[in-house]
Amino acid sequence: MTELMDTRRLGAAVHADFPILARRFGPDPLVYLDNAATSQKPRPVLDAILGYYTEANSNVGRGYYQLSMAATDVYEGARAAVRRALNAAHPEEIVFTAGTTASVNLVVDTFGRAKVHEGDQVVVTGMEHNSNLLPWRRLCETTGADLVVVPAESTGRVNPARFAKALGPRVRIAAVAHVSNVVGTVNPVRRMIADAHRAGIPVLVDGAQAVPHRRVDVRDLDADFYCFSAHKVYGPMGTGVLYGKRELLSRLEPYQVGGGTVKGMTFEEPVAYVPAPARLEAGTPNVAGAVGLAAALSYVDGLGWDEVRRHDATLVRTAAEMLGSLPRVRIIGDPAAEPSGIVSFAVDGIHPYDVGGHLDRHGVAVRSGVHCANVFVDSFGVLGTVRLSFAVYNTEAEIDLVRRAVATVEPGFW
Ligand code: PLP
Repeated sequence: MTELMDTRRLGAAVHADFPILARRFGPDPLVYLDNAATSQKPRPVLDAILGYYTEANSNVGRGYYQLSMAATDVYEGARAAVRRALNAAHPEEIVFTAGTTASVNLVVDTFGRAKVHEGDQVVVTGMEHNSNLLPWRRLCETTGADLVVVPAESTGRVNPARFAKALGPRVRIAAVAHVSNVVGTVNPVRRMIADAHRAGIPVLVDGAQAVPHRRVDVRDLDADFYCFSAHKVYGPMGTGVLYGKRELLSRLEPYQVGGGTVKGMTFEEPVAYVPAPARLEAGTPNVAGAVGLAAALSYVDGLGWDEVRRHDATLVRTAAEMLGSLPRVRIIGDPAAEPSGIVSFAVDGIHPYDVGGHLDRHGVAVRSGVHCANVFVDSFGVLGTVRLSFAVYNTEAEIDLVRRAVATVEPGFW
């Protein structure tokens, strides 16, 4: 009961901040539980984006007139806001990208191509999203390096001792998920990074599912690279972040080249690129996206991270308990041990798409299937899962609605 009282400031209390939640599909109000795919956007984020276009829009870093300088200030202000949110040491350690996928590909195509050669190894875990798996796999295929996969345990977490065993002398980099997008389990990344560093191996962390649910401190983790997407943390689509330690980013060759990456160019001399982060942000950046992300981070900060974490824990534990008590339902992994916004389940004898379709008819939006991580899902011996993923606006009443709907699901909806 205490927990219920503690979460009153979130859930229904913030519904009005999110205009899309007023939509209805049929008679029922929208119950949006696909936040791990993308979260909805609160009014301050929508206002910040509109405000940028109505008050400050012009190209950044290039114009010597007031409007352009104002836009540049806004853009660099957003970078400073992300630096503060991640507790990075320097604003130059924040590169704006199009999202987590783009951030990982950037590291693979710069750091990876420079450091990984035939006979080397790249370590990933068995629970990676395709976006933190396929770029590394392709790197290995094209360079002749080996991809070493450390499988997750049945809890849905990586065993750090098993991870440490994979950190041999041929490993050039390790890439690990902070939080699983399938089952919401949290990897002990701080310890994994410390072990990797003892072996001289840098680590990239895929934080796409962590940043929406916890205050991430890249210095405390000692992550070498940390990636996330704005759209999963109440910000806009098409914007993401690559954090990289300054000494690492400064040594990266440009990922793409073009406007904004050089000071000047002659055909006689080698090209001199500007320092990071500009050298890694070729072309006109998504300024409105960065502004929207800064507004989103400020919105969550304003709610209070302790409150967000408590609310999240209440929803995850309530969902695991309510659904786990249904006769045919199996909760996948161990999401309640350290809640992080996701509860995945399977219903005996019923295809996850059937469950998802049935929930949709009750106005509930969830993701069903293999969640871009089919090998990991296979490891649980299920065809796929139904994934409930939570945000600050979700409520226990919504979970109860899901429970009641799942209790009546029958096979063969599709
Ligand atoms: N990594 C994880 C763990 C994810 O959950 C996702 C998206 O679901 C991604 C990477 C890819 O993110 P994006 O599509 O925003 O690049």
